[in-house]
Amino acid sequence: MMYVSTRDANEKVSASQAILKGLANDGGLFVPEEIPQLDADIETLAEMTYQETAYAVMKQYLTDFTKEELESCISAAYDDKFDTKEIAPLREADGAYYLELFHGSTIAFKDMALSILPHLMTTSARKNQVKNEIVILTATSGDTGKAALAGFAGVKGTKIIVFYPKNGVSPIQEKQMVTQKGENTFVVGIHGNFDEAQTGVKKMFADASLAKELDAAGYQFSSANSINIGRLVPQIVYYVYAYSRLYKDGVISSGESINVVVPTGNFGNILAAFYAKNMGIPIAKLICASNENKVLYDFFATGTYDKNREFILTSSPSMDILISSNLERLIYRIAGNNPAYNVQLMNRLKTEGKYEITPEMKEKLSDFYGSYAGESETADVIRALYEKTGYVIDTHTAVAAGVYEKYKKETGDCEKKTVIASTASPFKFTRSVMKAIDVKYDSMSDFELADELSRIGNVKVPQAIEEIRTADIRHNTVCEVKEMPDTVRKFLKI
Ligand SMILES: *Cc1c(COP(=O)(O)O)cnc(C)c1O
Repeated sequence: MMYVSTRDANEKVSASQAILKGLANDGGLFVPEEIPQLDADIETLAEMTYQETAYAVMKQYLTDFTKEELESCISAAYDDKFDTKEIAPLREADGAYYLELFHGSTIAFKDMALSILPHLMTTSARKNQVKNEIVILTATSGDTGKAALAGFAGVKGTKIIVFYPKNGVSPIQEKQMVTQKGENTFVVGIHGNFDEAQTGVKKMFADASLAKELDAAGYQFSSANSINIGRLVPQIVYYVYAYSRLYKDGVISSGESINVVVPTGNFGNILAAFYAKNMGIPIAKLICASNENKVLYDFFATGTYDKNREFILTSSPSMDILISSNLERLIYRIAGNNPAYNVQLMNRLKTEGKYEITPEMKEKLSDFYGSYAGESETADVIRALYEKTGYVIDTHTAVAAGVYEKYKKETGDCEKKTVIASTASPFKFTRSVMKAIDVKYDSMSDFELADELSRIGNVKVPQAIEEIRTADIRHNTVCEVKEMPDTVRKFLKI
Protein backbone atom coordinates (compact mmCIF):
# COMPACT_ATOMS: atom_id res chain seq x y z
CA MET A 1 0.00 0.00 0.00
CA MET A 2 1.43 3.34 -1.04
CA TYR A 3 0.40 6.85 -0.04
CA VAL A 4 -0.02 9.77 -2.43
CA SER A 5 -0.20 13.48 -1.77
CA THR A 6 -3.59 15.15 -2.15
CA ARG A 7 -1.75 17.82 -4.19
CA ASP A 8 0.55 15.79 -6.41
CA ALA A 9 -0.08 12.27 -7.72
CA ASN A 10 3.64 11.86 -8.39
CA GLU A 11 4.57 12.18 -4.75
CA LYS A 12 4.21 8.57 -3.69
CA VAL A 13 5.66 7.16 -0.46
CA SER A 14 5.42 4.12 1.81
CA ALA A 15 3.45 4.21 5.06
CA SER A 16 6.57 4.64 7.19
CA GLN A 17 7.79 7.48 4.98
CA ALA A 18 4.39 9.19 5.17
CA ILE A 19 4.50 8.91 8.98
CA LEU A 20 7.99 10.42 9.09
CA LYS A 21 7.15 13.29 6.76
CA GLY A 22 3.74 14.19 8.18
CA LEU A 23 2.99 16.62 5.37
CA ALA A 24 3.88 16.03 1.70
CA ASN A 25 6.55 18.25 0.06
CA ASP A 26 3.90 20.20 -1.84
CA GLY A 27 1.93 20.93 1.34
CA GLY A 28 -0.58 18.18 0.56
CA LEU A 29 -1.78 15.45 2.90
CA PHE A 30 -0.92 11.81 2.39
CA VAL A 31 -3.81 9.48 1.58
CA PRO A 32 -3.75 5.74 0.91
CA GLU A 33 -4.08 5.03 -2.81
CA GLU A 34 -7.14 3.00 -1.94
CA ILE A 35 -9.05 2.41 1.28
CA PRO A 36 -8.42 -1.26 2.13
CA GLN A 37 -11.13 -3.69 3.22
CA LEU A 38 -11.23 -5.40 6.60
CA ASP A 39 -10.28 -9.05 6.17
CA ALA A 40 -11.92 -10.28 9.39
CA ASP A 41 -15.64 -10.99 9.68
CA ILE A 42 -17.82 -9.70 12.51
CA GLU A 43 -17.76 -12.99 14.45
CA THR A 44 -13.98 -12.86 14.51
CA LEU A 45 -13.87 -9.14 15.35
CA ALA A 46 -16.28 -9.66 18.22
CA GLU A 47 -13.80 -11.99 19.92
CA MET A 48 -10.86 -9.60 19.57
CA THR A 49 -9.40 -7.38 22.27
CA TYR A 50 -8.79 -3.71 21.51
CA GLN A 51 -5.14 -4.49 20.74
CA GLU A 52 -6.07 -7.32 18.38
CA THR A 53 -8.59 -5.09 16.63
CA ALA A 54 -5.89 -2.45 16.30
CA TYR A 55 -3.64 -4.97 14.59
CA ALA A 56 -6.43 -6.17 12.26
CA VAL A 57 -7.12 -2.60 11.12
CA MET A 58 -3.64 -1.12 11.07
CA LYS A 59 -1.94 -3.97 9.20
CA GLN A 60 -4.13 -3.09 6.22
CA TYR A 61 -2.65 0.41 6.11
CA LEU A 62 0.91 0.11 7.43
CA THR A 63 1.92 -2.61 5.03
CA ASP A 64 5.65 -1.95 5.24
CA PHE A 65 5.68 -2.69 9.00
CA THR A 66 6.41 -6.28 9.99
CA LYS A 67 3.93 -8.09 12.23
CA GLU A 68 6.42 -7.89 15.11
CA GLU A 69 6.99 -4.17 14.59
CA LEU A 70 3.31 -3.33 14.50
CA GLU A 71 2.39 -5.55 17.42
CA SER A 72 5.17 -4.06 19.50
CA CYS A 73 3.95 -0.51 18.73
CA ILE A 74 0.40 -1.52 19.68
CA SER A 75 1.32 -3.18 22.94
CA ALA A 76 3.58 -0.27 23.96
CA ALA A 77 0.71 2.17 23.31
CA TYR A 78 -2.41 0.49 24.64
CA ASP A 79 -1.17 -0.69 28.02
CA ASP A 80 -1.91 0.39 31.58
CA LYS A 81 -1.56 4.06 30.62
CA PHE A 82 -5.26 3.50 29.99
CA ASP A 83 -7.37 3.16 33.12
CA THR A 84 -9.58 0.43 31.64
CA LYS A 85 -8.69 -2.84 29.92
CA GLU A 86 -11.34 -2.15 27.31
CA ILE A 87 -9.32 0.96 26.25
CA ALA A 88 -12.41 2.51 24.60
CA PRO A 89 -15.55 1.39 26.50
CA LEU A 90 -19.11 1.99 25.31
CA ARG A 91 -21.59 3.46 27.77
CA GLU A 92 -25.31 3.54 27.08
CA ALA A 93 -27.18 6.62 28.28
CA ASP A 94 -30.60 7.90 27.24
CA GLY A 95 -30.72 5.57 24.23
CA ALA A 96 -27.34 6.47 22.70
CA TYR A 97 -24.00 4.67 22.99
CA TYR A 98 -21.19 6.90 24.19
CA LEU A 99 -17.82 5.66 22.96
CA GLU A 100 -15.52 6.85 25.73
CA LEU A 101 -12.25 7.79 24.07
CA PHE A 102 -10.82 9.51 27.13
CA HIS A 103 -9.33 6.74 29.25
CA GLY A 104 -5.71 7.46 28.29
CA SER A 105 -3.09 9.46 30.13
CA THR A 106 -4.39 12.94 29.24
CA ILE A 107 -8.11 12.10 29.44
CA ALA A 108 -8.99 13.18 25.89
CA PHE A 109 -9.41 11.24 22.66
CA LYS A 110 -6.10 12.48 21.26
CA ASP A 111 -4.45 9.82 23.46
CA MET A 112 -5.96 7.12 21.26
CA ALA A 113 -3.58 8.05 18.45
CA LEU A 114 -0.82 9.92 20.23
CA SER A 115 0.05 7.07 22.53
CA ILE A 116 1.02 5.01 19.48
CA LEU A 117 2.40 7.68 17.12
CA PRO A 118 5.84 8.01 18.84
CA HIS A 119 6.33 4.26 18.46
CA LEU A 120 5.18 4.29 14.83
CA MET A 121 7.54 7.19 14.23
CA THR A 122 10.67 5.77 15.84
CA THR A 123 9.99 2.45 14.08
CA SER A 124 9.60 4.35 10.78
CA ALA A 125 12.86 6.22 11.41
CA ARG A 126 14.69 2.93 11.98
CA LYS A 127 13.18 1.40 8.83
CA ASN A 128 14.29 4.35 6.73
CA GLN A 129 17.81 4.70 8.16
CA VAL A 130 17.09 8.19 9.47
CA LYS A 131 20.16 9.53 11.30
CA ASN A 132 18.76 12.91 12.36
CA GLU A 133 16.97 13.47 15.61
CA ILE A 134 13.25 13.99 15.00
CA VAL A 135 11.77 17.29 16.14
CA ILE A 136 8.01 17.12 16.51
CA LEU A 137 6.42 20.49 15.84
CA THR A 138 2.81 20.81 16.90
CA ALA A 139 0.11 23.45 17.06
CA THR A 140 -2.63 22.67 19.53
CA SER A 141 -6.06 23.92 20.43
CA GLY A 142 -5.51 22.30 23.82
CA ASP A 143 -5.75 18.55 23.83
CA THR A 144 -3.33 17.53 21.09
CA GLY A 145 -0.51 19.39 22.78
CA LYS A 146 -0.68 17.58 26.07
CA ALA A 147 -1.36 14.21 24.48
CA ALA A 148 1.62 14.67 22.12
CA LEU A 149 3.85 15.83 24.97
CA ALA A 150 2.84 12.82 27.06
CA GLY A 151 3.38 10.49 24.10
CA PHE A 152 6.83 11.78 23.13
CA ALA A 153 8.23 12.71 26.56
CA GLY A 154 11.39 10.73 27.14
CA VAL A 155 11.20 8.93 23.76
CA LYS A 156 14.81 8.56 22.57
CA GLY A 157 15.79 10.29 19.34
CA THR A 158 12.92 12.80 19.52
CA LYS A 159 12.22 16.30 20.76
CA ILE A 160 8.81 17.89 20.85
CA ILE A 161 7.85 21.58 20.61
CA VAL A 162 4.22 22.53 21.19
CA PHE A 163 2.61 25.90 20.35
CA TYR A 164 -0.75 26.79 21.88
CA PRO A 165 -2.93 29.95 21.84
CA LYS A 166 -2.06 31.64 25.14
CA ASN A 167 -5.67 32.71 25.80
CA GLY A 168 -7.47 29.98 23.88
CA VAL A 169 -7.23 26.86 26.05
CA SER A 170 -8.85 25.92 29.36
CA PRO A 171 -6.90 26.55 32.61
CA ILE A 172 -6.61 22.82 33.17
CA GLN A 173 -5.39 22.24 29.61
CA GLU A 174 -2.75 24.94 30.08
CA LYS A 175 -1.65 23.60 33.44
CA GLN A 176 -1.39 20.10 31.99
CA MET A 177 0.97 21.35 29.27
CA VAL A 178 3.18 23.76 31.22
CA THR A 179 3.85 21.14 33.90
CA GLN A 180 5.00 18.52 31.36
CA LYS A 181 8.12 16.67 32.44
CA GLY A 182 10.85 15.41 30.12
CA GLU A 183 14.06 17.11 28.93
CA ASN A 184 12.96 16.68 25.30
CA THR A 185 9.71 18.64 25.75
CA PHE A 186 9.14 22.37 24.99
CA VAL A 187 5.88 24.33 25.35
CA VAL A 188 5.16 27.83 24.01
CA GLY A 189 2.11 30.08 24.37
CA ILE A 190 1.57 32.35 21.35
CA HIS A 191 -0.25 35.66 21.15
CA GLY A 192 -2.78 34.48 18.60
CA ASN A 193 -5.51 31.90 18.05
CA PHE A 194 -5.22 28.23 17.10
CA ASP A 195 -5.44 28.86 13.36
CA GLU A 196 -2.50 31.27 13.60
CA ALA A 197 -0.52 28.71 15.58
CA GLN A 198 -1.31 26.06 12.98
CA THR A 199 -0.45 28.34 10.06
CA GLY A 200 2.83 29.24 11.79
CA VAL A 201 3.73 25.58 12.17
CA LYS A 202 2.79 24.80 8.57
CA LYS A 203 5.04 27.65 7.40
CA MET A 204 8.00 26.21 9.28
CA PHE A 205 7.38 22.82 7.71
CA ALA A 206 7.39 24.41 4.26
CA ASP A 207 10.51 26.54 4.93
CA ALA A 208 13.33 24.89 2.95
CA SER A 209 16.10 27.07 4.37
CA LEU A 210 15.00 26.32 7.94
CA ALA A 211 15.04 22.61 7.04
CA LYS A 212 18.65 23.02 5.84
CA GLU A 213 19.67 24.72 9.07
CA LEU A 214 18.11 21.88 11.01
CA ASP A 215 19.73 19.19 8.91
CA ALA A 216 23.15 20.77 9.42
CA ALA A 217 22.56 20.56 13.17
CA GLY A 218 21.36 16.92 12.98
CA TYR A 219 17.62 17.53 13.24
CA GLN A 220 14.56 17.13 11.06
CA PHE A 221 10.96 18.18 11.60
CA SER A 222 8.02 15.86 11.76
CA SER A 223 4.40 16.41 12.65
CA ALA A 224 2.20 14.94 15.34
CA ASN A 225 -0.81 16.96 14.19
CA SER A 226 -3.91 15.17 13.04
CA ILE A 227 -2.78 15.51 9.42
CA ASN A 228 -0.21 12.76 10.04
CA ILE A 229 -1.42 9.45 8.65
CA GLY A 230 0.01 7.87 11.80
CA ARG A 231 -2.72 9.70 13.72
CA LEU A 232 -5.54 8.93 11.33
CA VAL A 233 -5.03 5.17 11.04
CA PRO A 234 -5.12 4.38 14.80
CA GLN A 235 -8.36 6.37 15.02
CA ILE A 236 -10.13 4.04 12.59
CA VAL A 237 -9.64 1.23 15.10
CA TYR A 238 -12.13 2.37 17.71
CA TYR A 239 -15.00 2.64 15.25
CA VAL A 240 -14.43 -0.95 14.21
CA TYR A 241 -14.13 -1.89 17.88
CA ALA A 242 -17.34 -0.03 18.84
CA TYR A 243 -19.27 -1.81 16.10
CA SER A 244 -17.94 -5.21 17.14
CA ARG A 245 -18.81 -4.52 20.83
CA LEU A 246 -22.39 -3.59 19.91
CA TYR A 247 -22.62 -6.86 18.02
CA LYS A 248 -20.99 -8.87 20.79
CA ASP A 249 -23.33 -7.31 23.37
CA GLY A 250 -26.38 -8.26 21.30
CA VAL A 251 -27.36 -4.64 20.68
CA ILE A 252 -27.19 -5.08 16.91
CA SER A 253 -27.39 -8.06 14.60
CA SER A 254 -24.84 -8.96 11.94
CA GLY A 255 -24.80 -6.39 9.15
CA GLU A 256 -27.12 -3.98 10.96
CA SER A 257 -26.09 -0.41 10.31
CA ILE A 258 -25.45 2.24 12.94
CA ASN A 259 -25.06 6.01 12.98
CA VAL A 260 -21.98 7.74 14.31
CA VAL A 261 -21.92 11.26 15.75
CA VAL A 262 -18.56 13.02 16.05
CA PRO A 263 -17.83 16.38 17.69
CA THR A 264 -15.62 17.87 15.01
CA GLY A 265 -12.82 20.41 14.72
CA ASN A 266 -9.97 19.51 12.40
CA PHE A 267 -12.07 16.74 10.78
CA GLY A 268 -9.64 13.98 11.78
CA ASN A 269 -11.87 11.93 14.03
CA ILE A 270 -14.88 11.89 11.70
CA LEU A 271 -12.65 11.15 8.72
CA ALA A 272 -11.47 8.04 10.60
CA ALA A 273 -15.15 7.01 10.93
CA PHE A 274 -15.54 7.57 7.17
CA TYR A 275 -12.55 5.29 6.55
CA ALA A 276 -14.05 2.67 8.88
CA LYS A 277 -17.26 2.81 6.85
CA ASN A 278 -15.34 2.43 3.61
CA MET A 279 -13.44 -0.54 5.07
CA GLY A 280 -16.76 -2.34 5.43
CA ILE A 281 -18.24 -1.32 8.79
CA PRO A 282 -21.97 -0.66 8.22
CA ILE A 283 -22.23 2.99 9.19
CA ALA A 284 -25.30 4.73 7.80
CA LYS A 285 -24.86 8.40 8.66
CA LEU A 286 -21.71 10.19 9.69
CA ILE A 287 -23.10 13.01 11.76
CA CYS A 288 -20.66 15.92 11.91
CA ALA A 289 -21.25 18.09 14.98
CA SER A 290 -19.87 21.63 15.18
CA ASN A 291 -20.00 24.26 17.88
CA GLU A 292 -20.70 27.93 17.05
CA ASN A 293 -17.68 27.90 14.74
CA LYS A 294 -19.96 26.15 12.28
CA VAL A 295 -17.91 26.30 9.06
CA LEU A 296 -18.50 22.59 8.45
CA TYR A 297 -22.25 22.80 9.00
CA ASP A 298 -22.40 25.57 6.40
CA PHE A 299 -20.18 23.55 4.09
CA PHE A 300 -22.41 20.48 4.19
CA ALA A 301 -25.51 22.64 3.78
CA THR A 302 -24.29 24.83 0.90
CA GLY A 303 -21.21 23.23 -0.69
CA THR A 304 -19.21 26.36 0.10
CA TYR A 305 -16.40 26.28 2.61
CA ASP A 306 -15.94 29.81 3.94
CA LYS A 307 -13.60 30.65 6.78
CA ASN A 308 -14.22 34.40 6.46
CA ARG A 309 -16.07 34.84 9.70
CA GLU A 310 -15.57 35.76 13.30
CA PHE A 311 -13.58 33.25 15.32
CA ILE A 312 -15.68 32.40 18.39
CA LEU A 313 -14.21 31.17 21.68
CA THR A 314 -16.61 28.54 23.04
CA SER A 315 -16.79 26.14 25.97
CA SER A 316 -15.61 23.39 23.57
CA PRO A 317 -12.22 24.96 22.69
CA SER A 318 -10.80 21.89 20.94
CA MET A 319 -13.42 22.47 18.25
CA ASP A 320 -12.76 26.21 17.89
CA ILE A 321 -11.31 25.86 14.42
CA LEU A 322 -12.04 27.63 11.13
CA ILE A 323 -9.72 25.60 8.89
CA SER A 324 -10.43 21.90 9.21
CA SER A 325 -7.19 20.54 7.74
CA ASN A 326 -8.29 16.95 7.35
CA LEU A 327 -11.25 17.94 5.19
CA GLU A 328 -8.74 18.17 2.34
CA ARG A 329 -8.56 14.37 2.29
CA LEU A 330 -12.31 14.18 1.73
CA ILE A 331 -12.27 16.95 -0.86
CA TYR A 332 -9.56 15.13 -2.79
CA ARG A 333 -11.63 11.97 -2.73
CA ILE A 334 -14.93 13.50 -3.82
CA ALA A 335 -13.05 15.32 -6.57
CA GLY A 336 -12.32 11.80 -7.94
CA ASN A 337 -8.81 11.64 -6.43
CA ASN A 338 -7.89 14.63 -8.55
CA PRO A 339 -4.89 16.51 -7.11
CA ALA A 340 -5.05 19.34 -9.67
CA TYR A 341 -8.63 20.22 -8.77
CA ASN A 342 -7.91 19.88 -5.07
CA VAL A 343 -4.97 22.28 -5.42
CA GLN A 344 -7.26 24.82 -7.11
CA LEU A 345 -9.67 24.69 -4.19
CA MET A 346 -6.95 24.82 -1.53
CA ASN A 347 -5.35 27.80 -3.27
CA ARG A 348 -8.70 29.54 -3.25
CA LEU A 349 -8.99 28.82 0.45
CA LYS A 350 -5.57 30.38 0.95
CA THR A 351 -6.15 33.50 -1.15
CA GLU A 352 -9.89 34.16 -0.73
CA GLY A 353 -10.59 32.20 2.43
CA LYS A 354 -13.26 30.15 0.67
CA TYR A 355 -14.04 27.69 -2.10
CA GLU A 356 -17.10 26.05 -3.59
CA ILE A 357 -17.36 22.41 -4.63
CA THR A 358 -19.23 21.23 -7.73
CA PRO A 359 -22.77 19.77 -7.51
CA GLU A 360 -21.32 16.34 -8.47
CA MET A 361 -18.92 16.54 -5.54
CA LYS A 362 -21.68 17.64 -3.20
CA GLU A 363 -23.72 14.58 -4.18
CA LYS A 364 -20.91 12.40 -2.91
CA LEU A 365 -21.33 13.86 0.56
CA SER A 366 -24.67 12.18 1.18
CA ASP A 367 -23.11 9.94 3.88
CA PHE A 368 -22.65 13.05 5.98
CA TYR A 369 -25.10 15.10 7.97
CA GLY A 370 -23.86 18.34 9.51
CA SER A 371 -25.34 20.44 12.26
CA TYR A 372 -24.22 22.51 15.22
CA ALA A 373 -25.05 23.28 18.82
CA GLY A 374 -24.73 26.71 20.40
CA GLU A 375 -23.41 27.45 23.88
CA SER A 376 -26.71 27.34 25.74
CA GLU A 377 -27.86 24.20 23.92
CA THR A 378 -24.61 22.52 24.89
CA ALA A 379 -25.07 23.41 28.55
CA ASP A 380 -28.72 22.29 28.46
CA VAL A 381 -27.70 18.90 27.07
CA ILE A 382 -25.17 18.33 29.87
CA ARG A 383 -27.73 19.22 32.54
CA ALA A 384 -30.61 17.26 31.01
CA LEU A 385 -28.54 14.09 30.52
CA TYR A 386 -27.19 14.34 34.05
CA GLU A 387 -30.63 14.87 35.56
CA LYS A 388 -32.13 12.02 33.57
CA THR A 389 -29.38 9.42 33.87
CA GLY A 390 -26.68 10.61 36.29
CA TYR A 391 -24.12 10.43 33.46
CA VAL A 392 -21.91 13.50 33.10
CA ILE A 393 -20.44 14.32 29.68
CA ASP A 394 -17.94 17.00 28.69
CA THR A 395 -18.73 20.06 26.56
CA HIS A 396 -17.40 18.61 23.29
CA THR A 397 -19.36 15.40 23.69
CA ALA A 398 -22.39 17.54 24.59
CA VAL A 399 -22.13 19.37 21.26
CA ALA A 400 -22.40 15.96 19.60
CA ALA A 401 -25.29 14.88 21.82
CA GLY A 402 -27.10 18.16 21.06
CA VAL A 403 -26.60 17.68 17.34
CA TYR A 404 -27.87 14.11 17.60
CA GLU A 405 -31.11 15.43 19.15
CA LYS A 406 -31.47 17.87 16.25
CA TYR A 407 -30.73 15.10 13.76
CA LYS A 408 -33.47 12.88 15.18
CA LYS A 409 -36.01 15.71 15.14
CA GLU A 410 -35.15 16.77 11.63
CA THR A 411 -34.95 13.33 10.01
CA GLY A 412 -37.14 11.08 12.18
CA ASP A 413 -34.26 8.57 12.19
CA CYS A 414 -34.70 7.74 15.89
CA GLU A 415 -34.47 3.95 16.02
CA LYS A 416 -31.08 3.28 14.48
CA LYS A 417 -28.44 2.48 17.10
CA THR A 418 -26.14 5.43 17.39
CA VAL A 419 -22.59 5.79 18.67
CA ILE A 420 -21.57 9.22 19.98
CA ALA A 421 -17.82 9.76 20.11
CA SER A 422 -17.13 10.98 23.62
CA THR A 423 -13.93 12.90 23.12
CA ALA A 424 -12.99 14.22 26.55
CA SER A 425 -13.48 13.42 30.18
CA PRO A 426 -15.74 15.94 31.92
CA PHE A 427 -12.84 16.42 34.35
CA LYS A 428 -10.92 18.18 31.61
CA PHE A 429 -13.55 20.92 31.26
CA THR A 430 -14.82 20.86 34.81
CA ARG A 431 -15.86 24.49 35.15
CA SER A 432 -18.02 24.59 32.02
CA VAL A 433 -19.50 21.18 32.82
CA MET A 434 -20.34 21.99 36.44
CA LYS A 435 -21.72 25.43 35.57
CA ALA A 436 -24.00 23.75 33.07
CA ILE A 437 -25.33 21.48 35.80
CA ASP A 438 -25.78 24.31 38.30
CA VAL A 439 -24.57 27.93 38.20
CA LYS A 440 -23.85 27.80 41.93
CA TYR A 441 -20.67 25.86 41.18
CA ASP A 442 -19.01 28.84 39.53
CA SER A 443 -17.68 30.10 42.87
CA MET A 444 -15.57 26.97 43.48
CA SER A 445 -11.89 26.56 42.57
CA ASP A 446 -10.92 24.17 39.76
CA PHE A 447 -9.85 21.41 42.10
CA GLU A 448 -12.89 21.80 44.37
CA LEU A 449 -14.95 21.44 41.22
CA ALA A 450 -13.15 18.22 40.30
CA ASP A 451 -13.91 16.77 43.74
CA GLU A 452 -17.55 17.85 43.49
CA LEU A 453 -17.86 16.35 39.99
CA SER A 454 -16.43 13.12 41.34
CA ARG A 455 -19.08 13.12 44.06
CA ILE A 456 -22.15 13.96 41.94
CA GLY A 457 -21.10 11.85 38.94
CA ASN A 458 -19.93 8.96 41.08
CA VAL A 459 -16.59 8.60 39.23
CA LYS A 460 -13.08 8.77 40.58
CA VAL A 461 -11.00 11.89 39.89
CA PRO A 462 -8.72 10.73 37.03
CA GLN A 463 -5.00 10.34 37.61
CA ALA A 464 -4.29 13.09 35.05
CA ILE A 465 -6.03 15.64 37.29
CA GLU A 466 -4.54 14.34 40.54
CA GLU A 467 -1.08 14.74 38.99
CA ILE A 468 -1.39 18.44 38.23
CA ARG A 469 -2.77 19.44 41.60
CA THR A 470 0.74 19.86 42.92
CA ALA A 471 2.99 19.76 39.83
CA ASP A 472 5.57 22.53 39.22
CA ILE A 473 5.37 24.80 36.21
CA ARG A 474 8.28 23.91 33.94
CA HIS A 475 7.48 25.91 30.79
CA ASN A 476 6.83 29.65 30.62
CA THR A 477 7.85 30.76 27.10
CA VAL A 478 5.42 33.12 25.36
CA CYS A 479 6.00 34.58 21.87
CA GLU A 480 4.42 36.45 18.96
CA VAL A 481 3.31 34.44 15.91
CA LYS A 482 6.17 35.82 13.80
CA GLU A 483 8.73 34.80 16.43
CA MET A 484 7.84 31.09 16.20
CA PRO A 485 10.85 30.08 14.00
CA ASP A 486 13.32 31.90 16.25
CA THR A 487 11.81 30.25 19.29
CA VAL A 488 12.45 26.88 17.67
CA ARG A 489 16.07 27.86 16.87
CA LYS A 490 16.58 28.92 20.47
CA PHE A 491 15.30 25.62 21.85
CA LEU A 492 17.48 23.62 19.46
CA LYS A 493 20.45 25.93 20.05
CA ILE A 494 20.99 26.56 16.32
C1 LIG B 1 -9.49 17.43 19.05
C2 LIG B 1 -10.79 17.30 19.72
C3 LIG B 1 -11.99 17.31 18.98
C4 LIG B 1 -12.01 17.49 17.49
O1 LIG B 1 -11.46 16.39 16.80
P1 LIG B 1 -10.99 16.56 15.27
O2 LIG B 1 -10.35 15.27 14.94
O3 LIG B 1 -10.00 17.70 15.28
O4 LIG B 1 -12.18 16.87 14.48
C5 LIG B 1 -13.16 17.14 19.66
N1 LIG B 1 -13.20 17.01 21.00
C6 LIG B 1 -12.07 17.02 21.73
C7 LIG B 1 -12.17 16.90 23.22
C8 LIG B 1 -10.84 17.15 21.12
O5 LIG B 1 -9.72 17.14 21.86
